[in-house]
Amino acid sequence: MTTGKVYLVGAGPGDPKLITIRGLEALQRSEVVVFDRLAGPQLLNHARPDAERIYVGKLPDRHTMKQEEINQLLVNLALQGKTVIRLKGGDPTVFGRVGEEADLLRQNGIDFEIVPGITSAISVPAYAGIPVTHRDYASSFSVITGHESPDKLDLSIHWDKVTNATGTLVFLMGVAKIGYISEQLVKHGRSPSTPVALVQWGTRAEQRTLVGTLEDIEAKVREANFKPPAVIIVGDVVRQRETLAWVEKKPLFGQRVLVTRARSQASELVAMLDDQGAETYEFPVIETRLPDSPEGVQAIQRALEVADSFDWVILTSVNGVDYFFRWLDREAVDIRRFHSAKFAAVGPKTAEALAHRGIRADLLPESYQAEGLLDRLNGLVKPGQKALLPRGDLARELLPKALKEHGVEAVEIDVYETALAAPRDMWLAEMLASKEIHVITFTSSSTVVNLLEALKQIGIADPVAALNGIDIVCIGPVTAKTAEQHGLRVAVMPQHATIDGMVTALVEHRRNKRGD
Ligand code: SAH
Repeated sequence: MTTGKVYLVGAGPGDPKLITIRGLEALQRSEVVVFDRLAGPQLLNHARPDAERIYVGKLPDRHTMKQEEINQLLVNLALQGKTVIRLKGGDPTVFGRVGEEADLLRQNGIDFEIVPGITSAISVPAYAGIPVTHRDYASSFSVITGHESPDKLDLSIHWDKVTNATGTLVFLMGVAKIGYISEQLVKHGRSPSTPVALVQWGTRAEQRTLVGTLEDIEAKVREANFKPPAVIIVGDVVRQRETLAWVEKKPLFGQRVLVTRARSQASELVAMLDDQGAETYEFPVIETRLPDSPEGVQAIQRALEVADSFDWVILTSVNGVDYFFRWLDREAVDIRRFHSAKFAAVGPKTAEALAHRGIRADLLPESYQAEGLLDRLNGLVKPGQKALLPRGDLARELLPKALKEHGVEAVEIDVYETALAAPRDMWLAEMLASKEIHVITFTSSSTVVNLLEALKQIGIADPVAALNGIDIVCIGPVTAKTAEQHGLRVAVMPQHATIDGMVTALVEHRRNKRGD
C-alpha cells in the first residue's frame, strides 16, 4: 500500500469563504477531514460526501484530543494510504502547533503540505474596521500569545521590549488575562489612555466589539461579561473603527440563517443572503435523483417516444427542467422531436432554466404558482390538446386535474424523485439549543416536512419546540400553510413567491425589528 498525504490547512477565522483556493482544493480532494471548532463547520459542506469527518475538538462528554494524539492520528491515517486534510482555524503556523504535526509526519516519511490561511490576528481586526497598520499610527505590529499563566507570560513576553515597540500589539488567547496584560503595558510605559479593542468571534454572526483604554478595559470586559475567543488590539489604530466599522452596517449582520434546500439549489439563495451580510448555514434536507423503478422509467420512455404528438410541454420547476433534459440525454432524444409543442413555465426561474437550454417559454404567468399558470393556460390550451408535464414525484395535483377537467390529455411523468437527505450535521442540534440559529428559510412544503423529520433523526424529540423563537421565512402561501399546519409560526412571507422576494422581505423584517 502506498502512503497517503496530509494537508495542513489554514481554514481562516470563521467566515467559510476566507479559506484559500489551495485550501479548498485540498478539502475537496481529501478522503479524511480532521477538524475542530474554530474551523467553521460550514466548510465541511465542501468535503467529498463520502469523506470521513473526524472532530478533534471539545465535546461535552469528552476532553479535547491531546496534541500528541492528533499528531499520531494524522500519521496513522496517512499510513493507511489516505489523503488527509487537517483543518485549523486561522493560519496553521500562528499558534497552531503545525510544526509538531509536520515533524511527526516527516519522521514517519509521510508527504505533507502546509497551506497558509488568513490569521485571525489581522482579519478579525479588519472585520471590526481596524486595519492593523496605518501610515500615521503604526508602522509595525506584533502578534503575541496571552495564553500562559502570568509567570510564564513574563518569561515568554519581554514586556519592556513589546511595550516600547512602536506598533500595534495584537494578543490572541488573551481575554482571561486582559487585566494583567494592560497592567504590564502601562507599567512598562504605554499611556493608560492607549485605545484597546476586543473583537469576539470575528467574521461570524456573533462578531462583537468592545472598545476602551488600557486603563478601563478590564472593568469593561468584566461588566460586559465578554468571553473568548477574541482578538485584543492595542494601539492608536483602534481609533479607525470610529469611521471604518463596516460589517455591522450590513442589513442582515448578526443573522445566522439556516437554508433548507436541496443541495443543488441552495447556491442562489445563499449568495443573496451572504450579500446582505447574513451568515448562512446550509442544511440540505432534500435530495433529488433520477427515479429507477422500471414502471417509472417505462412511463418516461413511452412519453418520449411520442414526443411529436404533444401540443404543450408544461414545466413547473427548475428541477423539472433539469431532469427533463437529463432524460432526453439518457434516452438519446433530440429536443427538436417536440417540434409541435409550445413550452409553458410556472415562474421566472423555470423560464430562465429553459432559456439556458435555448428554449424561450411561450407562456409565463404573472403569479408564480400553479394557480396563476392555470388561469393563463385555460385561455390557450384547447380541449382535445395533449400536454406533457415533466415533474417531481411530490408535485401538486392541481394542475393536471384542472387540465383534465378542461378536456386536455395531460401526461404526467416523474422525471425526478425527492428523498430526505441523510443528515450528516453534528452541530445543528447544539446550535438550535443554544439559539445560534436566528432565521430558517423554507422554499417548499417538503423542506418544512423534511427539516422536522431530519431534526428528529438527529435526536431532537420535539422539533417544533426547538424552533421556537427563530424567525421562520416561507417563500409563498402554500409553504407557509404547511409550516403552520405543523405548528410553526411564520414570521416572513414575501409578496411574490421568489428567492429575491424572500430575501427582500427578510431584510425589511429585520429593519422593522431593529426599529430603523
Ligand atoms: N491559528 C489561529 C490562532 C489559534 S490561537 C489563527 O491564525 O487565527 C486561538 C485564538 O485565536 C483565540 O483564542 C482567539 O484569540 C483567536 N481567534 C481565532 N479565531 C477568532 C475569531 N473568529 N474571532 C476572534 N478571535 C479569534
